[in-house]
Amino acid sequence: MINEKLTEIIASLIYRSSVELPPDVMSALEGLAAREDSPLAAELYGCIFDNLKKAKELNRPICQDTGALQFFLKAGTKFPYLDDVEDSIREGVMRATERIPLRPNVVESFSERNTGGNVGTLSPWIEWEIVKNSSDLTVEVYMAGGGCSLAGRSKVLMPLEGYAGAVKFVFDTITEWGVNACPPLIVGIGIGACAPTAAMLSKKALLRPLGSENPNQKAAETEKRIKDGLNSIGIGPLGMSGKESVLGVNVEYAAHHPATLAVGLSVGCWATRRGKITVGADGKDGIEIKEC
Ligand code: SF4
Repeated sequence: MINEKLTEIIASLIYRSSVELPPDVMSALEGLAAREDSPLAAELYGCIFDNLKKAKELNRPICQDTGALQFFLKAGTKFPYLDDVEDSIREGVMRATERIPLRPNVVESFSERNTGGNVGTLSPWIEWEIVKNSSDLTVEVYMAGGGCSLAGRSKVLMPLEGYAGAVKFVFDTITEWGVNACPPLIVGIGIGACAPTAAMLSKKALLRPLGSENPNQKAAETEKRIKDGLNSIGIGPLGMSGKESVLGVNVEYAAHHPATLAVGLSVGCWATRRGKITVGADGKDGIEIKEC
């Protein structure tokens, strides 16, 4: 069953995320553009900012590629409408697709038919995290573009490869596939016990605001060193060369098996679209927005 208020909140969240970049991505993009001095890079950043301005003025998506929508939830065990969340998300996606409008991007696997409403089997993908003793629900949407998803990988490294192997994996993948992902890029890296864990953590790393650093000092140093290294390659805006390559590098991790280390990589493009909202029960069998 859908919850009408939650459905509309989700449709609005998708709208806002489609039409405007998150403030941290916008500010990182402005920083990179300001540091470029080549005429080609300046021209390309000019096109990007012109595109962003027009999208905002005309209420249109900042990119034609809707991406595949993914939702990351932090659901309080006491949030009273848990049963309605999944249906409300699916309905919110369909309403947003029609209203904005968004390009219908979801193609059913094997039949290869476009469903027309950006929903399908297990799509949008919904990742649940349960929060004890909370009555709030935080919904984060991520619109995973095709080009930037192309660079996504995860791998379990051989026992002796260690962290150097993880860094090599990131550099090998970005140097081969980064230009397809509409740079400058956000690089999310996951470290964990197996390939799916590392892959999911790498996607969650893309959700962490740019400019923040991992609280673990060694992980934070790894973020900085990989960022500096990727910037020294000079991929530049849209892969046409420039002083820098990345908007940011975020690492998230879980503990791993003593013999193996898994590394996951998710990549966001210059048009990284994500948005977040927290709602709670208003005490009168309704829902109120607590933070957005
Ligand atoms: S990779 Fe990003 S900017 Fe490029 S087409 Fe896809 S969504 Fe758009």
